[in-house]
Amino acid sequence: MTSNSSSSVSSMEQRLLPIEFLILGGGVAGLCSAITLTRAGHQVTLLERDSDITETRGAVGCRLPPNMTKFLSRWGMEDKLSKLASTSRTLYLVQFESGDILGKHVWQEEVLKETGGDYICMHYSTLRKLLFETALENGATILQNSVIQSISVNPGVRPSLELTTGQKFEADVLIGADGASSIARRAVVGQDLQSTFLGMVLYNVVVSGEEMMSDSELAELLEHDTSYSWLGNGRGACGFPMLRKGCDNGEKDYTLTIWIPYDNNPEDGWNHFVETSTLLRDIGDCDKKLRKLASLASSVIRIPISESPELEDWVHEDGHLLLVGDAAHAFFPGSLQAISIAAGDAAALGRIFQHLHHESQIESLLWGFEEIRQKRVSQMREAEMTFLSSMTMPNGPAQEARDARIKRRYELGLNALDNSDGSGPGQWDSVKDTFGYDAEDEADDWWMKWGKLKERAEFVEAVSPGFVIEVNQEASVSSAL
Ligand SMILES: Cc1cc2nc3c(=O)[nH]c(=O)nc-3n(C[C@H](O)[C@H](O)[C@H](O)COP(=O)(O)OP(=O)(O)OC[C@H]3O[C@@H](n4cnc5c(N)ncnc54)[C@H](O)[C@@H]3O)c2cc1C
Repeated sequence: MTSNSSSSVSSMEQRLLPIEFLILGGGVAGLCSAITLTRAGHQVTLLERDSDITETRGAVGCRLPPNMTKFLSRWGMEDKLSKLASTSRTLYLVQFESGDILGKHVWQEEVLKETGGDYICMHYSTLRKLLFETALENGATILQNSVIQSISVNPGVRPSLELTTGQKFEADVLIGADGASSIARRAVVGQDLQSTFLGMVLYNVVVSGEEMMSDSELAELLEHDTSYSWLGNGRGACGFPMLRKGCDNGEKDYTLTIWIPYDNNPEDGWNHFVETSTLLRDIGDCDKKLRKLASLASSVIRIPISESPELEDWVHEDGHLLLVGDAAHAFFPGSLQAISIAAGDAAALGRIFQHLHHESQIESLLWGFEEIRQKRVSQMREAEMTFLSSMTMPNGPAQEARDARIKRRYELGLNALDNSDGSGPGQWDSVKDTFGYDAEDEADDWWMKWGKLKERAEFVEAVSPGFVIEVNQEASVSSAL
């Protein structure tokens, strides 16, 4: 290498090249991406069809595991979260039909501390409002009431989109964060995706805390912040407390998510409210406590459970359009990891785009993002489907073995979700892969191993055409810089 090129190489340790991002959709994936990309120093405009992001119709509570809350703290939301979210350390596993206790799990503080985050519950609407306000504070422009109608991605020109009003926007990169019925995904894949109805619906229920307080058995759930998982014959449910939306005096409501078998796809959605009587009819005979809770529902929505196929590509082959969140990889509704994976996408995206120094890098950074996230998301989707199947396992030998295993641990005073019988590795082992995972660390590793080398290869090619540095994961780097 000539001294000339080596001085050029050192000069590539440049500052960030700020570019324009257009984010399509203001759910968790879109808002978190707005936060991370502005934190990285880029210009962000987000377009959302809802007229008021701070009020999400049909929302219930959500559980945020440590692999998400660690980001919210890093992104400056820790103090606000401590006022808006509650913790629930004790989880009972209960037989859906009889109400018999099968087991108990207590999340230990030291285990959660090791993961770098916390396990919290909050109203989804409160979370979305917090993300919206944080994105604005970071300098993102957010345009509500903006319905995207079409997207145009062609080689050599900036990608663009058009709203239903006819207004047009373009940017250096489009981020498709427009959810499970994404039009950005249609642009990437070239057609609508067919998802498969799994013969089940999710009832999402908010139970009025005021009503619960007048029943001593139910009041206890709020007073002790107790969560429940009901394991039934082809059905299942989760319940957890959350601070009431818009209340700052510590008052709580309770969220129930109930999975019930269903013959026909009802084609409802997050905005489809049904009567409490419909829910009570469909849950049938069940634990008296669960039925009592369901009968106090202040709102009930019903969503079909479907599985969408995995996409081969999240990046448009002709230009700078990337899919994130449910647009790239929808999780089934009510899944614990749907929200945290959307935030993990944003975390990795922001971290990777911290390293943008030259326009020619954009494409490889987008593909780098896909490479990091696809494997992880695929593992988590599989884990979540396994969890749903296990919770709703039909009665039979496998269910009996599952219940016997949980009961044995309960009798021995052991945590239900640990994978040891007391002699093995213990709780940390079972949660470190899920809760200890850090998408920002993974993005940093990718940058150190591959991104940096690719950047050097592209840079050297630009200043010294013909000087070959080959970078790929199977082969190696075939030149020394
Ligand atoms: C209305 C609603 C309520 C929800 N409530 C809960 C809840 O209470 N608890 C829970 O755990 N999960 C909830 N979820 C699901 C959860 O948000 C997602 O599964 C997960 O967070 C992944 O988020 P996402 O940002 O990828 O997708 P989404 O949350 O679906 O966000 C996509 C966003 O894109 C917008 N959008 C879509 N198409 C267009 C368009 N053409 N033009 C402009 N904007 C568009 C949508 O309005 C939406 O805000 C809810 C989702 C929705 C849509």
